[in-house]
Amino acid sequence: MEIGILGGGIAGLSVALALRKQGYHPRVYERRAVPATMGAGVTLWPNASFVLQELGLLQDIEAIGGRPLTMRRQDAAGNPLGGLDIELLNRTMGYPTYTVLRRHLQEVLLNHAAQAGIPVEFGHRAVAIELDANGKAMAHFENDASIRPDLLIGADGRMDSVARKFVAGGNTPTYQGFVNWIGVAQGQHALVDDIAIQDFWGAGERFGCVSIRPELVYWAAAQARPLSEAIPSADMRKEVEYMFAGWPEPVTRIIRATPANAIRLIAVHDLEPLQTWSRANVLLVGDAAHAPLPTSGQGACQALEDAWHLARCLDGASAGLDKVFQAFAKVRSPKTTKLAEQGRFFARGLFATDPETCRIRNERAKASNAAHDVRVLAAGWGQGLPMPDCTGGAPAQGCGISSLYSIE
Ligand SMILES: Cc1cc2nc3c(=O)[nH]c(=O)nc-3n(C[C@H](O)[C@H](O)[C@H](O)COP(=O)(O)OP(=O)(O)OC[C@H]3O[C@@H](n4cnc5c(N)ncnc54)[C@H](O)[C@@H]3O)c2cc1C
Repeated sequence: MEIGILGGGIAGLSVALALRKQGYHPRVYERRAVPATMGAGVTLWPNASFVLQELGLLQDIEAIGGRPLTMRRQDAAGNPLGGLDIELLNRTMGYPTYTVLRRHLQEVLLNHAAQAGIPVEFGHRAVAIELDANGKAMAHFENDASIRPDLLIGADGRMDSVARKFVAGGNTPTYQGFVNWIGVAQGQHALVDDIAIQDFWGAGERFGCVSIRPELVYWAAAQARPLSEAIPSADMRKEVEYMFAGWPEPVTRIIRATPANAIRLIAVHDLEPLQTWSRANVLLVGDAAHAPLPTSGQGACQALEDAWHLARCLDGASAGLDKVFQAFAKVRSPKTTKLAEQGRFFARGLFATDPETCRIRNERAKASNAAHDVRVLAAGWGQGLPMPDCTGGAPAQGCGISSLYSIE
């Protein structure tokens, strides 16, 4: 079976690796001319580590990643607001959590794709998909190339997915009312005391920083803003430094240790859940299928889970692609829909500007029960994967975390 994958991001490359392991020969088509070097970092929670282990990538992730053992929350004045015992979460789920720079993760995926003999065709921007006379999908690229594989996988992201437009008739993402500035700080000396995730909450503003090593920290600053004002300023480092002046350290230290020209502004969008992820022989995966807000902390992890599940569903490909697509949607849709809903719920709390709402939010966070949060989180994130019994005897309900506002 010929398999073409549109998009060489986390979803496209991990799907390619998972399918190659099953004996298929996928080919990846990426719009960029060269591998991406932009972006800050991602936290790969234990459910992602499970998939990375299955794909044979975990050793390489260990080599490039940080191993955070805790997540600490504070308000903008430095008062503690509880946190997450990541070490306990790791033990409960049976796999470690890693923090990685996005470009390093991309490198690992690309290296493994090369070792597995998976062709990645750069400079191939898909512009349209249409059906031929036999009802088979044909993807056309900007460079005049076109392909007509037996299975076409749309892994072309959240903002303008050509595959989503073909499957769903539209691909317009929804702006969720806040912007992120993202950056990577590199110090001569330690910028933070330990490898941890630190999350600072204000009113309508948030600063999250994640260390990989004490001198290497990626961060996201966020602010509630109308879309019309989501415009990069001439000096974004100055703008962010001014905005977060007076917040607890290491906030200012980290902003100052970031090259000004490497800070990027993102108007944060997500996608409405779809009724179906497939049409004809085209299937959506990753953000193109189910992009949650970064406040879910799970977008990349879910892209990796798609890879693992799709490979399993394709094992029954003799039953026909329709059945494969149905099985895939059945196992993936409830979890990803729940995570997308939670991402929105958390964002509403995080970017509230009303002082009373912020006070109640902070009190709730402070009163949260760390052991309970780990149990609920493990049950939700482990759902659908053959991981250790994460429920601790409690029924797994959706992917819920009662009082934890996850940081991306
Ligand atoms: C600020 C921020 C922080 C985040 N932090 C985390 C985190 O800590 N943990 C986590 O799990 N998730 C996180 N996420 C979410 C995560 O980044 C995404 O869910 C993940 O990258 C999805 O992977 P993807 O491959 O589906 O999409 P993408 O990473 O967007 O990749 C899509 C690929 O398709 C290519 N492409 C696009 N259009 C075309 C086309 N027409 N033709 C060919 N190629 C095309 C793109 O160039 C790109 O390479 C974060 C997101 C944001 C915005």
